[in-house]
Amino acid sequence: MLSAFERIMFLLLVAICLVATANTFTMMARVIGRGRGALYLDELPRRVMTGIAALFTQGRIIRHRKLTSLFHYGVAFGFIFYGLVNIIDVVEGLIPGFTFFEGNIIGHLFRLAADLFAAAVLIGVIYFLLRRFAAQDPALKTRDNVKLMDRVREGGIAIDSLIVGMFILTHVGSRLMGASFAIAQHGPDPWQPVANFIASTFLSGLPPEALTFGWHLFWWLAVGLILIFMPYFPYTKHAHLFMGPLNFMTSPERTYLGQMKKLDLDDETIEQFGANVLDDLPKKHILDAYACIMCNRCQEVCPAYTTGKELSPAALEINKRYYIRENMPALASGATGGISLIDFAISESAVWACTACGHCIEICPVGNVPMLDIMEIRRDQVMMQSEFPEQLKGAFIGMERMGNPWQAQQSRMEWTAPLPFEVPTVEENPDYEYLLWVGCAGAFNPDAQKTVRAVATILHEADVSFAILGDDETCTGDSARRAGNEPLFQAMAEANIETLNAAKANERRIVTSCPHCFTTIGKEYGEMGGHYTIFHHTQLISDLIGRGKLRLNGKTLEKVTFHDPCYLGRHNGIIADPRTALAAAGVELLEMPRHGKDSFCCGAGGAQYWKEEEHGVTGEKVNANRYREAQATGAAVLAVGCPFCSTMMSDANREHGDKMQVRDVAELVVEAMGAPVATN
Ligand code: SF4
Ligand code: SF4
Repeated sequence: MLSAFERIMFLLLVAICLVATANTFTMMARVIGRGRGALYLDELPRRVMTGIAALFTQGRIIRHRKLTSLFHYGVAFGFIFYGLVNIIDVVEGLIPGFTFFEGNIIGHLFRLAADLFAAAVLIGVIYFLLRRFAAQDPALKTRDNVKLMDRVREGGIAIDSLIVGMFILTHVGSRLMGASFAIAQHGPDPWQPVANFIASTFLSGLPPEALTFGWHLFWWLAVGLILIFMPYFPYTKHAHLFMGPLNFMTSPERTYLGQMKKLDLDDETIEQFGANVLDDLPKKHILDAYACIMCNRCQEVCPAYTTGKELSPAALEINKRYYIRENMPALASGATGGISLIDFAISESAVWACTACGHCIEICPVGNVPMLDIMEIRRDQVMMQSEFPEQLKGAFIGMERMGNPWQAQQSRMEWTAPLPFEVPTVEENPDYEYLLWVGCAGAFNPDAQKTVRAVATILHEADVSFAILGDDETCTGDSARRAGNEPLFQAMAEANIETLNAAKANERRIVTSCPHCFTTIGKEYGEMGGHYTIFHHTQLISDLIGRGKLRLNGKTLEKVTFHDPCYLGRHNGIIADPRTALAAAGVELLEMPRHGKDSFCCGAGGAQYWKEEEHGVTGEKVNANRYREAQATGAAVLAVGCPFCSTMMSDANREHGDKMQVRDVAELVVEAMGAPVATN
């Protein structure tokens, strides 16, 4: 029990800390408020449930770094429970005679949980400190060629981690010691085994005055420390405890993992498109900086970072975070200006190294979207600064003038020539069931043409009524959008929507062999008024097999490994269908370690296909990294489901002496169909 003097002092401390906490949290809210748009709070009950789910699942961290995640669960759940413990401790300390359900099962279970969680938190935090400071886990470091603010490079994260670690150790350790002193004073408690052990081992025999002093000392350390730390929360990575769930709660709905939102190009009041300075980012992206735990999980899976480039999505978030941290009062008070993100958060080369693979979004345990920051910066670079890699000009001009980034001028129908049957256009078969969206690759790239022929053959053999747009089809604008050229994307989208609607594709189904076209038409045109039911060809094949419409010969093909395209598996969650198709084709599937949602990019996405790959310190190309992994499975065939992956893997295969065959799933299915069909 606290003395009257202690109670007065404590109330004073509570008042001071609450005012200081309100001040720093208000600053944090004001900084987030500088961003564009709004935090999403519609359907609030559902959003609150999303936040609570994120809190208790810890952003599903257990999918990766399993041991570290287990320790993190212990620390996180323990710390959450300690919120209740702190409140009850304060009330017990302040109100003479108050005890929390003493003598009944609720009180017993509460003390047991507090005792065990304290142990879990202490063990977990010691693990994290040892991992960072003793083992110096390389996963927590960032390579020198990546832009990092001086403060971070000079050990800012280590200091932050040390402060947070010591705070938790002292806070929770003191609470446990306080309970131990109480047991030493009042007798053993079977519901507090850890505190019992400490009391009986280290405290027995101490005089009553020492036990009373010990209890008071540790009560003040435990409760006083949390109060003093509260205003400091917005400055530390510990803010992720509540900013992470808040981030999940206030995120926009996305039609697919990395959905980019439409820019209103007609709004004449908008002077800045894309993000030049911090304020140009959406509010949610500023919140990301506060939520970031600096775990480097995103960096670890980033294909650009993995191959030595200047890009680390983690560094981008960390730089934003430290920029805010160092300028928080000024930013909160509305100071205008600010330096360009390119000058402190990310280098120009890093901006153009992103493949838009979405892995940084998928893996982030606090719901951050570094990829979308990069897309916003690219929009500024292209639309406001006219600064972008020279090679992209060719693709832009091709899309603008010829309707395709290849700058091809021939007919989009030439791929049909080798087929032993006619491929009808929508004019020739207006009652089609499926519109086969060929895509620019399918129309002009010889490898992709083989795939589209295979898809057409499957449709033909399965008696599916289909048609194509022929020369009326133009590029979807996917690369233009990912390269930051939103006006060009919107122009392409508007033209395609008009064509698709005139062909009544909005009343039918669309099938395509390109995951980028699949995503753009099916998941992005909606914002532009085009609503379509679209399938990737592996989905349709899987469906046709399921309905017995495709007869496969069941002969076992060679060993095959499947490379999940980022815009199929990760961005759209289509993992099973290609595998169903491959299984039906009789292949023995050998999975690469990075598959499904964890697939490693081929290196072509995010408009990389149209430019030179940025230089990295290792000199390794993204496709070479992936190809090595495919080869290590021992498979003879590298199956793909995207024309860009096909080219990238074929290039790597050629450079490695054609050790594998690179073939689309559709081609393997055609081979297993028995009917003699021409795909070449
Ligand atoms: S989208 Fe992919 S390439 Fe771009 S930053 Fe994220 S992980 Fe790296
Ligand atoms: S952005 Fe997410 S995954 Fe990347 S370092 Fe921050 S918390 Fe970790």
